[in-house]
Amino acid sequence: MDLSIVVPSYNEEESLGELVAWIGRVMADTKWTYEIIIVDDGSRDATMKVVEDLSEHNNAVKAISFRRNYGKSAALNVGFAAAQGSVVITMDADLQDSPDEIPALMNMILVEGYDMVSGWKKVRHDPLSKTIPSKIFNGVVRNISGIQLHDFNCGLKAYRSDVVKSVEVYGEMHRYIPLLAKEAGFNKIGEKVVTHYERKFGVSKFGIERTIKGFLDLLSVTFMSKFGKRPMHLFGALGTLMFFIGFVAALWLGSKKIWCVCNGIPMPLLTSSPYFYLALTCMILGTQLFLAGFIAELVTRNAPERNVYMIAKKIGVE
Ligand code: UDP
Ligand code: MG
Repeated sequence: MDLSIVVPSYNEEESLGELVAWIGRVMADTKWTYEIIIVDDGSRDATMKVVEDLSEHNNAVKAISFRRNYGKSAALNVGFAAAQGSVVITMDADLQDSPDEIPALMNMILVEGYDMVSGWKKVRHDPLSKTIPSKIFNGVVRNISGIQLHDFNCGLKAYRSDVVKSVEVYGEMHRYIPLLAKEAGFNKIGEKVVTHYERKFGVSKFGIERTIKGFLDLLSVTFMSKFGKRPMHLFGALGTLMFFIGFVAALWLGSKKIWCVCNGIPMPLLTSSPYFYLALTCMILGTQLFLAGFIAELVTRNAPERNVYMIAKKIGVE
């Protein structure tokens, strides 16, 4: 199969019929074989009923339905696992992303050789309360990740199949797939300006809290990609540094005291000095950090499937 279109859908009963018909019209003009995987993210409206009706008349429509709402990342994750196409395109269900972009995205992957292409809603039809936080957010992520995309959060993205099979998204991490992809060794990440429409039916499923969750996930993603497989290098280094500072400080205080005692100079009790407690705290924190590093190493060792290496090609071996 050439193309899998993954559509996460949460309470989108009004939009799906129109979306599937639109995708059908676009794909009819091309030679590619395709499937549409609709992931119903625990919708409480008739989304699943609509999808069942659609799949009766259209073999390309496939669906996975969650028992409850898990979030867009989870929906994408199961969609990615099920996708059979050699290119995977994700698209929102709410008709804000245009299926007309599919052929151009396909060509960027198949002909121009991109590993992934992210849409950029350059002209955006959303309220200011959304576009301003989004600008800040994208700036920060660009700086931290070094990936020059303008619109990490765009629902319309295209991937070479290898990419989606080697990233794992959960929480709210769908907007960091470019970072995860880069971390997995896929360097050719492109961008395409895409048309964006106003939401036609229903309401947006994300509020302002998305920014906060988004930043927390950014911390996790950067931490995981830097130290996920070698936590001791972070905790051990910090722990050693802390302990060293505390130890040297304690040593200094102690020797000063002994020197004073030996020379008969009066000096207050060590425990009456704040520096003593600071030194103590440093040593305790240092030990704790070190232990955290050991425990984290044990945890990563216990999840060997998370320690896979990304293999690009094999010759003569299974
Ligand atoms: N979505 C989902 N699960 C959720 C929230 C959203 O599958 O918990 C889907 C939703 O149905 C839509 C896409 O994710 O297809 C983007 O959501 P929305 O349009 O509400 O986001 P916005 O366009 O406002 O950023
Ligand atoms: Mg939308």
